Amino acid sequence: MEHPENSEEYKGLTVNSGVVQPAIVNPYLSRFRKKRAQLLSAGEYAERIIKGDVSILSQAVTLVESVLPEHQALAQEVIEKCLPYSGNSVRIGISGVPGAGKSTSIDAFGVHLLENYGGKLAVLAIDPSSEKTKGSILGDKTRMEKLSVHPKSFIRPSPTAGSLGGVARKTRETIILCEAAGYDNIFVETVGVGQSETACHSMVDFFLLIQLAGTGDELQGIKRGIMEIADGIVINKADGSNIDKAQLAATHFRNALHLFPKPDSGVLPKVLCYSGFYEIGIDEVLKMIFDYIDEVKKNGYFQYRRNEQSKYWMYESINEHLRNDFYYNPTVKNMLGSLSEQVLDGHVTSFVAAKRLLDAYYEQIRRN
Ligand code: GDP
Repeated sequence: MEHPENSEEYKGLTVNSGVVQPAIVNPYLSRFRKKRAQLLSAGEYAERIIKGDVSILSQAVTLVESVLPEHQALAQEVIEKCLPYSGNSVRIGISGVPGAGKSTSIDAFGVHLLENYGGKLAVLAIDPSSEKTKGSILGDKTRMEKLSVHPKSFIRPSPTAGSLGGVARKTRETIILCEAAGYDNIFVETVGVGQSETACHSMVDFFLLIQLAGTGDELQGIKRGIMEIADGIVINKADGSNIDKAQLAATHFRNALHLFPKPDSGVLPKVLCYSGFYEIGIDEVLKMIFDYIDEVKKNGYFQYRRNEQSKYWMYESINEHLRNDFYYNPTVKNMLGSLSEQVLDGHVTSFVAAKRLLDAYYEQIRRN
């Protein structure tokens, strides 16, 4: 049977042959991209960041994360200009092992915060492993469905470059830019493995540790020394049949906390149960955080901690700079491979190898 569209009545609908198909890729894209890549001056970046221009803020963060020396120099200038406008936010670190429910919780905490406390929220991340996973572990927008479409939120995945020190420094610099752009609350998410928690702790005013009930995590937290740096511990997934287990875990944590000396802040960490997914107990967690902030602002610890952190970051920057200068030095690079082999072969001791490398490095500096 003939297709109905082929009858006389449908003449206007017959398929025309020979229509030129448009290119799949917009031919003007390259022109468009070139335009976008044009850099502004440091003053222009800073001015527009301070006005709260989100797209310029994003571009400036990209500069902070760039490995190109000219981008880094420009980024430092922008940061310097933004510095006087920074420091006015509450910085909250959020940590937990993968699967603890960090992104679900940040989505819930974030939306609740924006809707009930007002202001603007930036979500940043420290994930040194993200180079391998292409930044998919932390800060991925799709993982925070409600927050990522909220007009008052700014979500940025973890910088992907290199060492933990480098990644953490970039996140810290991004905090400065976000504060200059008027973000009053900043969440710094970090994965609860390795040293990234310590790095996160060194840039926040409150460090929240998300734990799960019945996973043996209670002991792990204590063993890894992470409980000492937590300003609050929360047990997630306290919903359905899990409620009793969560409450029991909370009791264990409370008991364990009593074994530690009183923290420098003077405020004993609280332990709460909540459910990020079902949004139960969210306000209590936020209240715990802001009560702590009020308390430490009153007793002077807030400023003390920020001063200590500034000092720490000064030394960290020096260390990172010296380390990079050393390892990127051409003579060192040349010698490093064969010397480390000689150490492995047992021909040279580690100390002698280190001394030879350092001597060669200083010698070259002297000659330059
Ligand atoms: P992350 O790896 O720490 O960021 O964890 P996710 O937020 O991706 O959560 C891991 C899994 O736990 C997901 O399947 C979530 O749906 C689930 N989850 C997160 N929060 C809760 C909660 O409060 N209750 C329950 N039952 N499941 C949750």
